[in-house]
Amino acid sequence: MRETKSTCPYCGVGCGVIIESEGEQIVGVRGDPQHPANFGRLCTKGSTLHLTAMAPLMRQNRLLEPMMRVSRQQPPRPVSWDVALDEAAQRLAGVIRQHGPDAVGFYISGQLLTEDYYVFNKLAKGLLGTNNIDTNSRLCMSSAVAAYKQTLGADAPPACYDDVHRAQTIFIAGSNTAYAHPILFRRIEEAKRANPALRIIVADPRRTPTAEAADLHLPVQPGTDVALFHGMLHVLIEEGLLDTRFIAQHTTGFETLRATVRRYTPRTAAALCGLEERSLVQAARWFGQSTATLSLYCQGLNQSASGTAKNAALINLHLATGQIGRPGAGPFSLTGQPNAMGGREVGGLANLLSAHRDLSDPHHRAEVARLWGVPDVPATPGTTAVEMFEAAARGQIKALWIVCTNPAQSMPDQRTVRQALERAELVIVQEAYATTATCAYADLLLPAATWAEKDGTVTNSERRVTRVRAAVPPPGSARCDWRIAVDIARRLERRLPARAPHTLFPYDSPEAIWNEHRETTRGRDLDITALSYALLEELGPQQWPMPQGATTGRARLYEDGRFPTPDGRARFANVEYVPVAEARDVRYPISLTTGRLRDQWHGMSRTGQLGRLFGHVSEPCIELSPADMARQGLRDGDLVHITSRRGSIVLPAQGSGEVAPAQAFIAMHWGDEFVSGQTGSGQPAAGVNALTTSAHCPVSKQPELKHAAIKILKAELP
Ligand code: SF4
Repeated sequence: MRETKSTCPYCGVGCGVIIESEGEQIVGVRGDPQHPANFGRLCTKGSTLHLTAMAPLMRQNRLLEPMMRVSRQQPPRPVSWDVALDEAAQRLAGVIRQHGPDAVGFYISGQLLTEDYYVFNKLAKGLLGTNNIDTNSRLCMSSAVAAYKQTLGADAPPACYDDVHRAQTIFIAGSNTAYAHPILFRRIEEAKRANPALRIIVADPRRTPTAEAADLHLPVQPGTDVALFHGMLHVLIEEGLLDTRFIAQHTTGFETLRATVRRYTPRTAAALCGLEERSLVQAARWFGQSTATLSLYCQGLNQSASGTAKNAALINLHLATGQIGRPGAGPFSLTGQPNAMGGREVGGLANLLSAHRDLSDPHHRAEVARLWGVPDVPATPGTTAVEMFEAAARGQIKALWIVCTNPAQSMPDQRTVRQALERAELVIVQEAYATTATCAYADLLLPAATWAEKDGTVTNSERRVTRVRAAVPPPGSARCDWRIAVDIARRLERRLPARAPHTLFPYDSPEAIWNEHRETTRGRDLDITALSYALLEELGPQQWPMPQGATTGRARLYEDGRFPTPDGRARFANVEYVPVAEARDVRYPISLTTGRLRDQWHGMSRTGQLGRLFGHVSEPCIELSPADMARQGLRDGDLVHITSRRGSIVLPAQGSGEVAPAQAFIAMHWGDEFVSGQTGSGQPAAGVNALTTSAHCPVSKQPELKHAAIKILKAELP
């Protein structure tokens, strides 16, 4: 039996795993005791990775060879790789010739390894000359990115997991850590056991298992986080709990913000949030009086039409109290996907360039063009996730290349997404599994290698880079994602000689791509020029930055009080509370929120194939408060029509003490095959995202998946 060290592909905690294999079969998985993210622990999802990999349905569902269809009326048929790659290159080049490079859109994934991400980014922005490349990480952490840059000057979470054990107060906002980041939550529980004086505050509309474990739960009304944080800052000011020395020496903009939060008295803020005033005051005191306060936050802040403002308002609290750059203190955004961070590092979003450079900065564009050896990087902003599918639905984007993600389930407002997939002239889907809803729209299906079959790196929530290693070869003729991208890129180079005077993709291994990527980081905030594959082999996973000469990574940032802004100071963000995009009203009187279950992952393409992972929750439902169940005359299991302005689905209702009156919760995982219904234009529904809105944050462009106004009607059975 062989043992291969790698990483769990499910979430941003980034746990190390040891894969056991015999020949070409994976036979077991256990936690890597030496990996600093998990020290050998795995949650229910990670510990069953080998079972999902071996599940008969998983094998049956694997894409083993390229498939192509000659017309939309015919089913796809197997073709050779050469035919598929030539077809892709020829049709992409045709679209570019006829409509220009911005008629092509790439929608990629936080599942990809950093090396995959790098190649796709260079292919789109460098070779094709379009910035239309975005990722499903847009749905997960783009608000955190925008707020870090706005306040601290760089997209870099300053804290680390070890800070959980050094904090005196942990403030969890918009994160059901117990379900979404279970191994990190084990640390929080451990820290509480070791230090009963540790205060845990959870701000969440639902009384989740995370909130249940808190010393103080703040059941805010959906979307009111900015009011909460401003109200807390008001208390900190009034009660003299500011770190005035830190504010004076290391920040700018406090006086402007002070004037703004004067209006957010505890009474006003508590009323906006639907809280008791004394709870808000208590939270502020614990935050400000603590020797070290660590904030952990996730989609509850990010997936919002004011996501950037929410993130920034929370960071304001840390700057005002000097709770940053010290052990146990700091704002710490948690990433949902295993490699959302790696994608950010290579600039894998429509508005970013390699190594945290900005597309809007002409110097950055020129730098990247020089590093890549292309004439230029175009200045036209690329379309972000929601915008890309809207542009395709309007007919502006003609070709979509979708990699390792399932927008026909995971994007909000499925009506528009499915119109886009139908209208696009060319849909390329690069996938491991043939069964995702998006595959049904593909003109070309390219079989991709997946977990345990690929080599490269990922970066977890705490900036820690870990090697991902192949334990077994991919089945059939499936190929690694970077390899497929390079194979098509080389064919496109021949058709676009003006943009590729020499080959831009000379890679023969992920390591060659990594070496080029780390060179682009030289002198940047995330400089990893010292971090070679050999060093990762020798030292194990490391946190960036790690510039030339460094012998180890850096646990936490800004310990010297200097921030990567032009004047070295962090900036307070003067933001205002803005209500949710679609407030509930008489016609749609219930606030719907979405989220994860403990044992399922994304659209269930992996976890949905393993019976034991349904032991926790076996079927989809809408959770309603007991009061709303009674008001509507519902009993557990009664079917209800759930309707928003965009679509309608049918689900059983379930009374739940976790949900407040006039609110509802539906897990995000269940798709077409589990949830019947339809979008507003009559297509089959795609789970809860038939209902959700594509309203998004004006800064981060992250959609408000956490809130939609709905109505519920008891289904009449014949
Ligand atoms: Fe995998 Fe996340 Fe669970 Fe760790 S916590 S085992 S990374 S799903």
